[in-house]
Amino acid sequence: MALRMSSLFVRTQKEDPVGAEVASHKLLHRAGYIRRSAPGIYTWLPLGLAVLGKIETIVRDEMARAGSQEVHFPGLLPADPYKTSGRWEAFGPDLFHLKDRRENDYILAPTHEEVFTLLVKDLYSSYKDLPLSIYQIQTKYRDEARPRAGLLRGREFIMKDAYSFDIDDAGLDASYEAMRVAYLRAFARLGLPCLPVKATPGAMGGSGTEEFIYPSEVGEDTFVRSPGGYAANVEAVTSIVPEAIPYENSPAAHVEDTPDTPTIETLVAAANANHPREDRAWTAADTLKNVVCAVTHPDGTREIIVIGLPGDRAVDLDRAAGTGMLGAGEVDLEAATAEDLAAQPELVKGYIGPGNDLEHPVLGLEAPSKIRYLLDPRVVDGTRWITGANEPGRHVFDLVAGRDFTADGTIEAAEVVLGDPAPDGSGPLELARGVEIGQIFKLGRKYAEALDLKVLDQNGKAATVTMGSYGLGVTRVMACIAEEFHSDDGLLWPQHLAPADVHVIVAGKGEEIAAAGEKLTADLEAEGVSVLLDDRNKVSPGFKFADAELIGIPTVIVVGRGVADGVLEVRNRLADEKQELPLAEVVPTTVERVRQAYAQAGAAADAAVAADAAAGTAADGTVETLAD
Ligand code: ATP
Ligand code: MG
Repeated sequence: MALRMSSLFVRTQKEDPVGAEVASHKLLHRAGYIRRSAPGIYTWLPLGLAVLGKIETIVRDEMARAGSQEVHFPGLLPADPYKTSGRWEAFGPDLFHLKDRRENDYILAPTHEEVFTLLVKDLYSSYKDLPLSIYQIQTKYRDEARPRAGLLRGREFIMKDAYSFDIDDAGLDASYEAMRVAYLRAFARLGLPCLPVKATPGAMGGSGTEEFIYPSEVGEDTFVRSPGGYAANVEAVTSIVPEAIPYENSPAAHVEDTPDTPTIETLVAAANANHPREDRAWTAADTLKNVVCAVTHPDGTREIIVIGLPGDRAVDLDRAAGTGMLGAGEVDLEAATAEDLAAQPELVKGYIGPGNDLEHPVLGLEAPSKIRYLLDPRVVDGTRWITGANEPGRHVFDLVAGRDFTADGTIEAAEVVLGDPAPDGSGPLELARGVEIGQIFKLGRKYAEALDLKVLDQNGKAATVTMGSYGLGVTRVMACIAEEFHSDDGLLWPQHLAPADVHVIVAGKGEEIAAAGEKLTADLEAEGVSVLLDDRNKVSPGFKFADAELIGIPTVIVVGRGVADGVLEVRNRLADEKQELPLAEVVPTTVERVRQAYAQAGAAADAAVAADAAAGTAADGTVETLAD
């Protein structure tokens, strides 16, 4: 049945929603696809559901192709499995908690690893049952600190989440690779450019993981790539650690007055003028900057730490928080406040340093303050620094790592900058922004161990199952498609994802024109082409065209005055083309165009997998050479 503008539950809006920053948010609201219910929570209208349904169909199809079977879990779950796995705490305030009338803890599920694990434990008992891949398309809840950009970051959103269960590592590798191919194919069919990048497991745990990134300025993720094919989320980039340097011949550390050196630049200038190095000039990269930060752990405890890094680098708080080097679970990292600093009198603002005596450190292992001191991995033993002397107006020179100070550990906290070397030697990195549209994980045995998922192996012994988990943000993907495909005047969907295949506009008065619109609609639908018919009586053609541009179906057929001469105007908005076609040709031409659009999406999926294979990126993100 055709959709009719005269009865369709939609009211297009002239105004952007309050506070909307990105095109997808503005246009999905204005074109009547979604309505905001609460911050980060949206109601779906018929047009929105139509596109969402097409996206889900493609995702389902690729899951089936990868051998995954669909199930469906509740969104409301008992808290116990999440307590057992530790994620009741690890999720921190992002988790929506509630109690039932008997005071039992429940959650609104943010993701479902625990209950999938328990379901398999419930039903399966032998290695012969494996491998298994199951998935759902389901609503997730996360009380995001900063819901933003409409569907891009919601507090309620739809995710496709799949889980694989294998008896051994080789099985997990194969399951992961099948999902990886399914993702490449699904995003290609959805028309979204995307790039698999190495990522960090974060609170999920596990070994290998990749994120699928849609490159876009509206994204919150920064990723890097090299000419040689390395691609990673900044959180996953590892610094190239230099060899330790022998320090027997290094000069002894000495504390100096350094008046009027409020910045690193002035400090370096004063150092070169008054305390020159014998071998070369001091640079900003020779200064050791010590930044005081506050970590909020998932249980709410706040910890003050100091991060030491070369003075030519800034701290990237998100990268540092995402590395997993600050503690278990999802941690929050921010610059320490004045209050935090006031509570740590041993830290002299502007002159913080680890001290120059291993026996009596100010920071680091054994220091009485017990403040965790974490160093950039480039600060290897033997490197020689200028840093704060823990006294106002004084710095220590020739402070040698390993000889004069140590730390409690290392952390990749430094901002990755343009031109940094790729860790695999594949060239200088460039940085770009993007949106994470999916992430695949080799979880390993973490959840199976926590929840005791074992099966009998070939020898009749109980063996812990190894798992993978594979998330794809369905509603976020819809926002990304809207970002990628729109014009100044509205949405402009790829042909095969539009809420209807064709938008027929009755643009003229009189019975004859209205009847021609009805006939065209019936003829198209008889051929399996879906139609949105603008049959509104009292609406001007100008209004109808504006609505059509906002709603964004790329094929528009105008039924107007030409009817008298037996011609209709067929517009292809994606190609910015218009043609006048004789009535008899309109239906076959349109049917062919729609059919081709679906076929092209399928071909794009094959091409994406071939291109990925040619790029030589293996499942673990390592780059293979042609010689392999
Ligand atoms: P992000 O880093 O953007 O918060 P995430 O890494 O926490 O995402 P995952 O747990 O990997 O997300 O979830 C799988 C997928 O679900 C993500 O790749 C993304 O596409 C989608 N997703 C996650 N959070 C949201 C959200 N708040 N709104 C919409 N989609 C989301
Ligand atoms: Mg993720």
